[in-house]
Amino acid sequence: MKLPPFEYACPGSIAEAVALLAAHDGEAKPLAGGQSLVPMLAFRVAAPSLLVDLRKVPELRQIKIAADGVTLGAMVRWRDILEDARLVKAHPLLVAAVGHVAHYQIRNRGTVGGSLAHADPAAELPGIVVTCEAKIAVLGKAGARAIPAADFFRGPLTTALKPDEIITEIRLPAWPARRRFGFAEFARRRGDFALAAVALFYDAAGDGKATNAHVGATGIADRPLRLAAVEQVINGSKIDAATIAEAEAAASAAVDPPDDIHAGGAYRKALIGVMVERALCSAAA
Ligand SMILES: Cc1cc2nc3c(=O)[nH]c(=O)nc-3n(C[C@H](O)[C@H](O)[C@H](O)COP(=O)(O)OP(=O)(O)OC[C@H]3O[C@@H](n4cnc5c(N)ncnc54)[C@H](O)[C@@H]3O)c2cc1C
Repeated sequence: MKLPPFEYACPGSIAEAVALLAAHDGEAKPLAGGQSLVPMLAFRVAAPSLLVDLRKVPELRQIKIAADGVTLGAMVRWRDILEDARLVKAHPLLVAAVGHVAHYQIRNRGTVGGSLAHADPAAELPGIVVTCEAKIAVLGKAGARAIPAADFFRGPLTTALKPDEIITEIRLPAWPARRRFGFAEFARRRGDFALAAVALFYDAAGDGKATNAHVGATGIADRPLRLAAVEQVINGSKIDAATIAEAEAAASAAVDPPDDIHAGGAYRKALIGVMVERALCSAAA
Protein backbone atom coordinates (compact mmCIF):
# COMPACT_ATOMS: atom_id res chain seq x y z
CA MET A 1 0.00 0.00 0.00
CA LYS A 2 1.09 3.59 -0.51
CA LEU A 3 2.13 5.46 2.60
CA PRO A 4 -0.33 7.93 4.14
CA PRO A 5 0.65 11.60 3.66
CA PHE A 6 3.06 13.15 6.17
CA GLU A 7 5.37 16.13 6.53
CA TYR A 8 9.11 15.49 6.72
CA ALA A 9 11.86 17.21 8.70
CA CYS A 10 15.57 16.42 8.89
CA PRO A 11 17.05 18.30 11.86
CA GLY A 12 20.80 18.61 12.49
CA SER A 13 20.76 18.36 16.29
CA ILE A 14 19.10 16.39 19.09
CA ALA A 15 17.61 19.58 20.56
CA GLU A 16 15.98 20.47 17.24
CA ALA A 17 14.58 16.94 16.87
CA VAL A 18 13.07 17.04 20.37
CA ALA A 19 11.59 20.51 19.73
CA LEU A 20 9.90 19.23 16.56
CA LEU A 21 8.41 16.22 18.38
CA ALA A 22 7.22 18.44 21.25
CA ALA A 23 5.62 20.97 18.88
CA HIS A 24 3.54 18.22 17.24
CA ASP A 25 2.10 16.92 20.50
CA GLY A 26 2.18 13.17 19.86
CA GLU A 27 1.50 13.46 16.12
CA ALA A 28 5.17 13.23 15.06
CA LYS A 29 7.48 10.22 15.04
CA PRO A 30 11.26 9.84 14.80
CA LEU A 31 12.50 8.11 11.65
CA ALA A 32 15.71 6.06 12.00
CA GLY A 33 16.41 3.58 9.17
CA GLY A 34 12.71 3.16 8.35
CA GLN A 35 13.02 -0.64 8.48
CA SER A 36 9.95 -1.01 10.72
CA LEU A 37 8.36 2.41 10.57
CA VAL A 38 7.86 2.47 6.80
CA PRO A 39 6.03 -0.91 6.78
CA MET A 40 3.98 0.32 9.76
CA LEU A 41 2.94 3.36 7.72
CA ALA A 42 2.11 1.19 4.72
CA PHE A 43 -0.07 -1.07 6.89
CA ARG A 44 -1.67 2.03 8.50
CA VAL A 45 -0.57 0.83 11.94
CA ALA A 46 0.95 4.31 12.34
CA ALA A 47 -0.10 7.55 10.63
CA PRO A 48 2.02 10.40 12.06
CA SER A 49 1.59 13.88 10.60
CA LEU A 50 5.38 14.48 10.71
CA LEU A 51 8.44 12.25 10.41
CA VAL A 52 11.55 13.59 12.15
CA ASP A 53 14.48 11.98 10.37
CA LEU A 54 17.44 11.51 12.75
CA ARG A 55 20.05 10.60 10.13
CA LYS A 56 21.79 14.00 10.17
CA VAL A 57 22.37 14.13 13.93
CA PRO A 58 26.05 13.16 14.28
CA GLU A 59 25.99 12.67 18.11
CA LEU A 60 23.53 9.81 17.67
CA ARG A 61 25.96 7.80 15.54
CA GLN A 62 28.77 7.38 18.07
CA ILE A 63 30.01 4.19 19.72
CA LYS A 64 31.91 5.07 22.92
CA ILE A 65 33.97 2.59 24.91
CA ALA A 66 35.12 3.65 28.38
CA ALA A 67 36.03 2.07 31.73
CA ASP A 68 32.39 2.19 32.84
CA GLY A 69 31.00 0.47 29.75
CA VAL A 70 29.87 0.76 26.15
CA THR A 71 27.59 3.53 24.94
CA LEU A 72 25.78 3.16 21.64
CA GLY A 73 24.22 6.24 20.04
CA ALA A 74 20.62 5.60 19.00
CA MET A 75 21.48 5.83 15.27
CA VAL A 76 24.26 3.24 15.44
CA ARG A 77 23.41 0.59 12.86
CA TRP A 78 23.86 -3.18 13.16
CA ARG A 79 26.61 -2.94 10.59
CA ASP A 80 28.49 -0.34 12.68
CA ILE A 81 28.55 -2.77 15.61
CA LEU A 82 29.75 -5.70 13.52
CA GLU A 83 32.48 -3.60 11.91
CA ASP A 84 33.81 -2.08 15.15
CA ALA A 85 36.67 -4.42 16.12
CA ARG A 86 36.89 -2.89 19.63
CA LEU A 87 33.50 -4.34 20.57
CA VAL A 88 34.67 -7.94 20.28
CA LYS A 89 36.52 -7.38 23.56
CA ALA A 90 34.45 -4.55 25.00
CA HIS A 91 31.11 -6.38 24.64
CA PRO A 92 31.32 -9.81 23.01
CA LEU A 93 27.75 -10.75 24.00
CA LEU A 94 26.40 -7.75 22.08
CA VAL A 95 28.42 -8.70 19.01
CA ALA A 96 27.28 -12.34 19.22
CA ALA A 97 23.62 -11.29 19.37
CA VAL A 98 23.82 -8.72 16.57
CA GLY A 99 25.32 -11.43 14.36
CA HIS A 100 21.82 -12.97 14.34
CA VAL A 101 19.96 -9.79 13.35
CA ALA A 102 18.36 -9.93 9.92
CA HIS A 103 20.27 -9.75 6.63
CA TYR A 104 22.99 -7.62 5.13
CA GLN A 105 20.63 -5.02 3.62
CA ILE A 106 18.65 -4.54 6.82
CA ARG A 107 21.81 -4.37 8.91
CA ASN A 108 22.96 -1.47 6.73
CA ARG A 109 19.96 0.65 7.77
CA GLY A 110 18.45 -0.79 10.96
CA THR A 111 19.50 1.04 14.14
CA VAL A 112 19.77 0.21 17.82
CA GLY A 113 17.41 3.04 18.83
CA GLY A 114 14.83 2.00 16.24
CA SER A 115 14.97 -1.60 17.45
CA LEU A 116 14.40 -0.66 21.10
CA ALA A 117 11.63 1.85 20.31
CA HIS A 118 9.91 -0.66 18.02
CA ALA A 119 10.02 -3.25 20.85
CA ASP A 120 9.52 -6.44 18.88
CA PRO A 121 9.40 -9.22 21.52
CA ALA A 122 11.51 -11.47 19.26
CA ALA A 123 14.27 -8.95 18.50
CA GLU A 124 17.78 -9.58 19.79
CA LEU A 125 18.83 -6.20 21.20
CA PRO A 126 15.92 -5.81 23.65
CA GLY A 127 17.01 -9.16 25.13
CA ILE A 128 20.60 -8.00 25.43
CA VAL A 129 19.77 -4.72 27.17
CA VAL A 130 17.51 -6.49 29.68
CA THR A 131 20.07 -9.25 30.34
CA CYS A 132 22.90 -6.75 30.80
CA GLU A 133 20.88 -4.24 32.88
CA ALA A 134 21.57 -1.47 30.39
CA LYS A 135 20.08 1.99 30.70
CA ILE A 136 18.19 3.65 27.84
CA ALA A 137 18.94 7.39 27.81
CA VAL A 138 16.09 9.51 26.44
CA LEU A 139 15.47 13.22 25.96
CA GLY A 140 12.12 15.00 25.73
CA LYS A 141 10.55 18.34 26.47
CA ALA A 142 10.68 17.60 30.24
CA GLY A 143 14.43 16.90 30.03
CA ALA A 144 16.67 13.84 30.06
CA ARG A 145 16.14 10.57 31.91
CA ALA A 146 17.80 7.15 31.91
CA ILE A 147 15.31 4.27 31.91
CA PRO A 148 16.50 0.88 33.23
CA ALA A 149 15.98 -1.67 30.45
CA ALA A 150 13.83 -3.81 32.78
CA ASP A 151 11.29 -0.93 32.92
CA PHE A 152 11.47 0.07 29.26
CA PHE A 153 9.46 -2.66 27.51
CA ARG A 154 5.74 -2.70 28.28
CA GLY A 155 4.52 -5.20 25.67
CA PRO A 156 4.66 -5.81 21.91
CA LEU A 157 5.51 -2.51 20.16
CA THR A 158 4.97 -0.66 23.46
CA THR A 159 7.60 1.07 25.59
CA ALA A 160 7.99 3.59 28.40
CA LEU A 161 8.88 6.33 25.84
CA LYS A 162 6.67 9.43 25.88
CA PRO A 163 5.55 10.76 22.46
CA ASP A 164 7.94 13.74 22.64
CA GLU A 165 10.97 11.67 23.74
CA ILE A 166 13.75 10.29 21.61
CA ILE A 167 16.24 7.64 22.60
CA THR A 168 19.66 9.28 22.57
CA GLU A 169 21.89 6.41 23.67
CA ILE A 170 22.08 2.93 25.18
CA ARG A 171 24.47 2.46 28.10
CA LEU A 172 25.76 -1.06 28.64
CA PRO A 173 27.71 -1.63 31.89
CA ALA A 174 31.41 -2.53 31.66
CA TRP A 175 32.30 -6.07 30.60
CA PRO A 176 35.06 -7.71 32.71
CA ALA A 177 37.80 -9.36 30.66
CA ARG A 178 37.28 -12.92 31.96
CA ARG A 179 33.48 -13.00 31.91
CA ARG A 180 31.90 -16.13 30.37
CA PHE A 181 28.99 -15.70 27.96
CA GLY A 182 26.80 -17.52 25.50
CA PHE A 183 24.15 -16.57 22.97
CA ALA A 184 21.88 -19.16 21.35
CA GLU A 185 19.01 -18.56 18.98
CA PHE A 186 16.62 -20.68 16.98
CA ALA A 187 14.98 -19.14 13.90
CA ARG A 188 13.28 -20.85 11.00
CA ARG A 189 15.68 -19.32 8.50
CA ARG A 190 19.00 -17.56 8.99
CA GLY A 191 18.29 -13.86 9.67
CA ASP A 192 14.65 -14.33 10.69
CA PHE A 193 13.38 -13.10 14.03
CA ALA A 194 14.01 -15.63 16.81
CA LEU A 195 11.45 -18.28 17.71
CA ALA A 196 13.42 -18.31 20.95
CA ALA A 197 16.80 -16.93 21.99
CA VAL A 198 18.87 -16.89 25.15
CA ALA A 199 21.65 -14.49 26.15
CA LEU A 200 23.59 -15.25 29.29
CA PHE A 201 26.77 -14.49 31.16
CA TYR A 202 28.40 -15.27 34.49
CA ASP A 203 31.68 -14.57 36.24
CA ALA A 204 33.91 -17.36 37.52
CA ALA A 205 34.90 -17.28 41.21
CA GLY A 206 38.34 -18.54 42.37
CA ASP A 207 36.90 -21.98 43.22
CA GLY A 208 35.65 -22.39 39.63
CA LYS A 209 32.03 -21.80 40.60
CA ALA A 210 29.86 -19.29 38.76
CA THR A 211 28.67 -16.02 40.26
CA ASN A 212 26.69 -13.03 39.03
CA ALA A 213 24.67 -15.07 36.50
CA HIS A 214 22.43 -13.07 34.17
CA VAL A 215 20.12 -15.02 31.86
CA GLY A 216 17.68 -13.37 29.45
CA ALA A 217 15.20 -14.86 26.99
CA THR A 218 13.41 -13.44 23.96
CA GLY A 219 10.65 -14.74 21.73
CA ILE A 220 8.75 -16.44 24.53
CA ALA A 221 6.66 -13.62 26.03
CA ASP A 222 5.34 -10.15 25.14
CA ARG A 223 8.71 -8.65 26.13
CA PRO A 224 12.25 -9.89 26.93
CA LEU A 225 12.51 -11.62 30.30
CA ARG A 226 15.23 -12.41 32.84
CA LEU A 227 15.08 -16.06 33.94
CA ALA A 228 15.73 -15.80 37.69
CA ALA A 229 15.22 -19.53 38.26
CA VAL A 230 18.03 -20.34 35.81
CA GLU A 231 20.30 -17.73 37.37
CA GLN A 232 19.76 -19.42 40.76
CA VAL A 233 20.83 -22.77 39.34
CA ILE A 234 24.00 -21.29 37.85
CA ASN A 235 25.08 -19.14 40.79
CA GLY A 236 27.38 -21.07 43.13
CA SER A 237 27.68 -24.04 40.76
CA LYS A 238 30.39 -25.44 38.53
CA ILE A 239 29.11 -25.36 34.95
CA ASP A 240 29.19 -29.11 34.33
CA ALA A 241 26.75 -31.51 32.68
CA ALA A 242 24.56 -31.77 35.80
CA THR A 243 24.24 -27.99 36.19
CA ILE A 244 23.50 -27.54 32.50
CA ALA A 245 20.73 -30.19 32.64
CA GLU A 246 19.25 -28.53 35.74
CA ALA A 247 19.39 -25.10 34.10
CA GLU A 248 17.68 -26.44 30.96
CA ALA A 249 14.82 -27.90 33.01
CA ALA A 250 14.52 -24.70 35.09
CA ALA A 251 14.26 -22.58 31.94
CA SER A 252 11.44 -24.66 30.44
CA ALA A 253 9.59 -24.68 33.77
CA ALA A 254 9.94 -20.88 34.17
CA VAL A 255 8.21 -19.81 30.95
CA ASP A 256 4.69 -20.10 29.60
CA PRO A 257 4.83 -18.94 25.97
CA PRO A 258 1.56 -18.43 24.07
CA ASP A 259 0.73 -20.23 20.81
CA ASP A 260 1.10 -18.07 17.72
CA ILE A 261 1.27 -18.51 13.96
CA HIS A 262 4.97 -19.39 14.10
CA ALA A 263 5.02 -22.05 16.86
CA GLY A 264 2.99 -23.62 19.64
CA GLY A 265 3.63 -22.60 23.24
CA ALA A 266 4.71 -26.12 24.25
CA TYR A 267 7.29 -26.17 21.46
CA ARG A 268 8.74 -22.82 22.55
CA LYS A 269 8.79 -23.98 26.19
CA ALA A 270 11.00 -26.91 25.20
CA LEU A 271 13.03 -24.74 22.86
CA ILE A 272 13.98 -22.21 25.51
CA GLY A 273 15.48 -25.02 27.60
CA VAL A 274 17.55 -26.13 24.62
CA MET A 275 18.71 -22.54 24.05
CA VAL A 276 19.85 -22.33 27.70
CA GLU A 277 21.72 -25.60 27.28
CA ARG A 278 23.46 -24.42 24.11
CA ALA A 279 24.33 -21.00 25.52
CA LEU A 280 25.74 -22.53 28.73
CA CYS A 281 27.79 -25.12 26.81
CA SER A 282 29.21 -22.31 24.71
CA ALA A 283 29.96 -20.20 27.81
CA ALA A 284 31.66 -23.09 29.61
CA ALA A 285 33.78 -23.92 26.55
C1 LIG B 1 12.90 -8.24 6.74
C2 LIG B 1 13.32 -7.78 8.10
C3 LIG B 1 13.93 -8.69 8.96
C4 LIG B 1 14.32 -8.29 10.24
N1 LIG B 1 14.91 -9.20 11.06
C5 LIG B 1 15.27 -8.81 12.30
C6 LIG B 1 15.89 -9.71 13.20
O1 LIG B 1 16.16 -10.88 12.90
N2 LIG B 1 16.20 -9.26 14.45
C7 LIG B 1 15.95 -7.97 14.84
O2 LIG B 1 16.24 -7.61 15.99
N3 LIG B 1 15.40 -7.09 14.00
C8 LIG B 1 15.07 -7.47 12.74
N4 LIG B 1 14.48 -6.57 11.93
C9 LIG B 1 14.27 -5.20 12.45
C10 LIG B 1 15.40 -4.26 12.04
O3 LIG B 1 16.65 -4.84 12.30
C11 LIG B 1 15.34 -2.93 12.80
O4 LIG B 1 15.87 -3.07 14.08
C12 LIG B 1 13.99 -2.43 13.05
O5 LIG B 1 13.21 -2.59 11.88
C13 LIG B 1 14.05 -0.95 13.43
O6 LIG B 1 14.39 -0.28 12.25
P1 LIG B 1 15.00 1.16 12.19
O7 LIG B 1 16.15 1.27 13.08
O8 LIG B 1 15.16 1.46 10.76
O9 LIG B 1 13.87 2.10 12.85
P2 LIG B 1 12.59 2.75 12.17
O10 LIG B 1 11.88 1.75 11.36
O11 LIG B 1 12.96 4.04 11.49
O12 LIG B 1 11.76 3.11 13.48
C14 LIG B 1 11.15 2.08 14.25
C15 LIG B 1 10.37 2.72 15.40
O13 LIG B 1 11.27 3.33 16.31
C16 LIG B 1 11.01 4.72 16.45
N5 LIG B 1 12.34 5.32 16.60
C17 LIG B 1 13.41 5.20 15.78
N6 LIG B 1 14.48 5.79 16.31
C18 LIG B 1 14.07 6.32 17.49
C19 LIG B 1 14.74 7.05 18.52
N7 LIG B 1 16.04 7.36 18.45
N8 LIG B 1 14.02 7.42 19.59
C20 LIG B 1 12.71 7.11 19.69
N9 LIG B 1 12.03 6.41 18.76
C21 LIG B 1 12.72 6.02 17.68
C22 LIG B 1 10.26 5.11 15.20
O14 LIG B 1 9.46 6.26 15.40
C23 LIG B 1 9.43 3.86 14.96
O15 LIG B 1 8.32 3.85 15.81
C24 LIG B 1 14.10 -6.95 10.65
C25 LIG B 1 13.49 -6.03 9.78
C26 LIG B 1 13.10 -6.42 8.53
C27 LIG B 1 12.46 -5.41 7.61
